[in-house]
Amino acid sequence: MTGRSGAAGAGPGYGTDAAADPYAPGSGNAGYRVAHYDLDLRYRVATNRLDGTATLTAVALDDLTRVTLDLAHLGVTRAAVDGVRVGKVRQSASKLSIPLPAPVPAGATFTLRIEYGGAPRPRRSTWGGVGWEELEDGALVAAQPTGAPTWFPCDDHPARRSTYDVRVATEPEYTVVGHGVPAGSRLTRGRREWRFVMEQPTATYLAAIVVARLETSAVDLAGVPGRIVSPRAIGHRVRSDFGALGAMMAAFVERFGPYPFPSYTVAITPDDLEIPLEAQAMAIFGANHADGAGSWERLIAHELAHQWFGNSVGLTTWRDIWLNEGFACYAEWLWSEASAGPSADTHARSHERRLRSLPQDLVLADPGAHDMFDDRVYKRGALALHALRLEIGDDLFFAVLRTWTGRFARTCATTAQFRAHAAGIAGRPLDALFDAWLERMPLPRLP
Ligand SMILES: [Zn+2]
Repeated sequence: MTGRSGAAGAGPGYGTDAAADPYAPGSGNAGYRVAHYDLDLRYRVATNRLDGTATLTAVALDDLTRVTLDLAHLGVTRAAVDGVRVGKVRQSASKLSIPLPAPVPAGATFTLRIEYGGAPRPRRSTWGGVGWEELEDGALVAAQPTGAPTWFPCDDHPARRSTYDVRVATEPEYTVVGHGVPAGSRLTRGRREWRFVMEQPTATYLAAIVVARLETSAVDLAGVPGRIVSPRAIGHRVRSDFGALGAMMAAFVERFGPYPFPSYTVAITPDDLEIPLEAQAMAIFGANHADGAGSWERLIAHELAHQWFGNSVGLTTWRDIWLNEGFACYAEWLWSEASAGPSADTHARSHERRLRSLPQDLVLADPGAHDMFDDRVYKRGALALHALRLEIGDDLFFAVLRTWTGRFARTCATTAQFRAHAAGIAGRPLDALFDAWLERMPLPRLP
């Protein structure tokens, strides 16, 4: 699959802005942008029942008479626009279509209030099941790239970023961890309601929660307030394996610039997970990633690095996924170097050898939807950064990283912008290097 189905969803009355990302043509909507999601959710673990009220504050880009939203597997019971009840909401497998009681002119702010519910579950995608997932005893959200509509109605697109206020009420024996800054919990009508506030712009795929039997420890991460939330039974393994998180934060702040969010939360689920997941100001690991032997330290570094690369500096399109994954992978090697492990150069040369034995049929700057999460994107992306470092030297290379995260903090960027940015800091064109690593298939050789 190439993921090039054009601008699906851009229809009459929706203006000319591209609704969808070319790699995810079924997601995303035209004609408006959501500035803020207020999610008031009730979840029952025992029955996997989710009910919610989503209140979206949006701005019209065009004159609107109708809006569409992404929502999968959950049913809408009632909707209102600016307080006026909507007559009939049309709903397909993955879209809502809401007629506006009165036309909304371009530039106007409007509020959509949507009551919905059902049994949330992952949705099928090119990349397997994504979105809401039940745990053995709890639940989590693994939304990247198109799973957000499995738990709230949204305009699901990597470059559409909003603020969030999320409340989740559930059985009191469970802890809810969410993306954003925890704002406490309270008992209400036999349930405990947990609240998270995220005031920095957040992509829909980076909104997430974990619901499980967990306990919370506060940790200081080089001055950044941190929390590690994990099952009591594996507390000793977690303390051991995540013990370096503060030093990791310090090493990354030195190399990447200030940590971009007010806090960092690590959630470790009681279940094993295939891969850890990044969310805004949060990362989610499986119990298997805390084996007590530090086997997964590189992934702890990888997920932390996403806070700069992917979460603060976001993607404009999925095509540029190497800006997230290449950088987070390179951060693994940088952490190794910073913590008296093998140097980034040693890692790079070993991965260069390995990549040379694999098919070289992928263009890093446009790998195609199907290969977006291919390990070759991650490793070649990291190698491209190492090649840049060897070309311009450490001082300029780290200046490129720090000013990149500064200039594009809390906004979206593209590969072209990175190339121009790096060349600007280096003070000379770098087209030969970037063309070879990013735009052509054959694997270049490191100098
Ligand atoms: Zn990653």
